[in-house]
Amino acid sequence: MSSITINCNRLMKDIEALAAFSDMPAPAMCRILYSKTDMAARGMIKKLAEAAGFSWREDAIGNLFIRMDGNNPQLPPVATGSHTDAIPNSGKYDGVLGVLGGLEAMRAIKESGRMPLRSLETIMFTAEEPTRFGVGCIGSRALAGAISETQLLQLQDLDGNAFEAVRAEAGFKAPLNHLPLGKNCYSHFVELHIEQGPNLEAAGTQIGIVTAIPASTTMQICITGEGGHAGTVMMPNRRDALMAAAEFALKVEAIAKDNTSSDAVATIGKFEAFPSASNSIPNEVILTVDIRDRRSEVRDEMMASIEAALAGICKERKVTSKTVVFNCDPSAESDEEILSIVEASASQLGLSHTRMVSRAFHDTAFMARLVPVAMIFIPCANGYSHRPEEYASPDDIENGVAVLANTMWELAN
Ligand SMILES: [Zn+2]
Repeated sequence: MSSITINCNRLMKDIEALAAFSDMPAPAMCRILYSKTDMAARGMIKKLAEAAGFSWREDAIGNLFIRMDGNNPQLPPVATGSHTDAIPNSGKYDGVLGVLGGLEAMRAIKESGRMPLRSLETIMFTAEEPTRFGVGCIGSRALAGAISETQLLQLQDLDGNAFEAVRAEAGFKAPLNHLPLGKNCYSHFVELHIEQGPNLEAAGTQIGIVTAIPASTTMQICITGEGGHAGTVMMPNRRDALMAAAEFALKVEAIAKDNTSSDAVATIGKFEAFPSASNSIPNEVILTVDIRDRRSEVRDEMMASIEAALAGICKERKVTSKTVVFNCDPSAESDEEILSIVEASASQLGLSHTRMVSRAFHDTAFMARLVPVAMIFIPCANGYSHRPEEYASPDDIENGVAVLANTMWELAN
């Protein structure tokens, strides 16, 4: 196993080169789905794949599959992968590590001079981040058949552009009805990612082995009251949308805090009042609620409590509300066989490791609907992620890719 040597310098150069494709000044990253920058970054990855002697194909929404043929290309391949889109003002490792690290793992296996039995693939999933269309994991969701062609066609970005129009503008014109991959299209899927939390670093542990990804829901709520002049509408006569939303926001926090599950979290990440003038009573608030727990049932209960709280507040304050559920996804469990192979790989490389739950959502959650999955985490400084200070050390990156390469090799033979 140990004869697979990771070329960390090469990988770090690739990560730096990809970071040059950003719509915000360095070190802040921003690569929004189908933007010129996103397309240029994809171009760079294809060039790297070609330079390594791998073939690639792209589907109708830009999921990119980089392939190294094994001795028996008829067998379902072993796959890895992640995403390269980046939310505004983020860092250069989230997702990128899993794509360029996957590519490096395949290069290292190839350069070891040995040929795996199964083929290997690194997938770059289209738009893991929900930035443009409000829905996360569009690429892996489509591969798993968890978003239909009709639902894709209904997507609109914040500027009102239809998904179909921006897709076509980016050059993806193939029909959308062949996106889902069949069950067991791959033998296994393993994603490498930075932890995006502080636990590995705090414990001094080199490798995290992900056993599960929590159930997650994102919904958008629009609360409508009645606007008016800040001086002339007396307090008893008000139907202030912002005050209703404020009361609701604190209630959402309480529902998550008071839950008996220590995994339960709820976040209001967006909160916009209209018309947003200092002397005007807000007539409308649009906000989002993100709810997660390790168990789907707990998430469902929280969702129900949140909806009941909203109904009560609306009745009390004589305002109305409309909820749109963007996604409501079950939790995903890792495969025990892969978990033990990752553990054995880490042990053989002399790396400390621990099993853990992923606190963030990943494409793996959707690949889990098709094939056995697991994830490998490496520490990131201070747990920072989704901000420019995001950092993973070259040593930790090398460790993670080495574990990935060894795991893929074992799974492929
Ligand atoms: Zn990510």
